[in-house]
Amino acid sequence: MPLHRERVDPVRTPAQLELCHRRWLLPDDVQRAVVLPQAARLWRGLFDLAVLDPSAEALLDRLALPPAAAPEHSDLPAAASAGALLAGAGAASTVSQIVFLEEGRRDPYQEEGPEPGYRDYTLYLVDSTRFLLLPLPAVETICAACGRTAAPELTRFGEAALIDLARPCSACASPPDLTRTRARLRSGAIFLLEEVCARAALSIELPRAPREEELPDAQVAALLREAFGGYDELADDGVEPA
Ligand SMILES: [Zn+2]
Repeated sequence: MPLHRERVDPVRTPAQLELCHRRWLLPDDVQRAVVLPQAARLWRGLFDLAVLDPSAEALLDRLALPPAAAPEHSDLPAAASAGALLAGAGAASTVSQIVFLEEGRRDPYQEEGPEPGYRDYTLYLVDSTRFLLLPLPAVETICAACGRTAAPELTRFGEAALIDLARPCSACASPPDLTRTRARLRSGAIFLLEEVCARAALSIELPRAPREEELPDAQVAALLREAFGGYDELADDGVEPA
């Protein structure tokens, strides 16, 4: 039997990292619409700025809503990935690509060092009035009407979760209220639902936390503002790689 040995380089292989850092960039107002063409322009803009690699493949995941089956997964040429987002009406979609900075990709966090490593970019878009994205999944929700605390029934989607705004409180049957229902995150912090939900988000996974708390790259920041309006950055450190 011939012995096949695959080349393994720990710096280049995200799967070998035990834990990584993920930044979530999301609109600062959950009520502000992010329509499919805006998301497609953002994704295309990341290629134009050389953040993404136009010669590599991208991955597309699409989940029809309400969720009844596993997401459909496809690999597609980078050039087709922005256009593929446009076909996500009534669905939750992600498009993603992993790039390596040593191959000349632009780093929005402008990290320095001998081992720049990888960046995993995933753009999430939920085209729905009923479902929203929870980038940092809540472990409990606190009903605004009756105060009952319950573990929310979320649908995992990529590294995030989807919350169904039509699912009522099991105690008093009130639906969640974005401006009054509270959510407790894994960290223990409690937020209003509207502060932690989004219709769209860009996640950037890095091997370790960047020095900068806010994206220092003005052109990438401008591209995000064009798609999202004002945006917030949420950090999730010590997480498993996607
Ligand atoms: Zn209730």
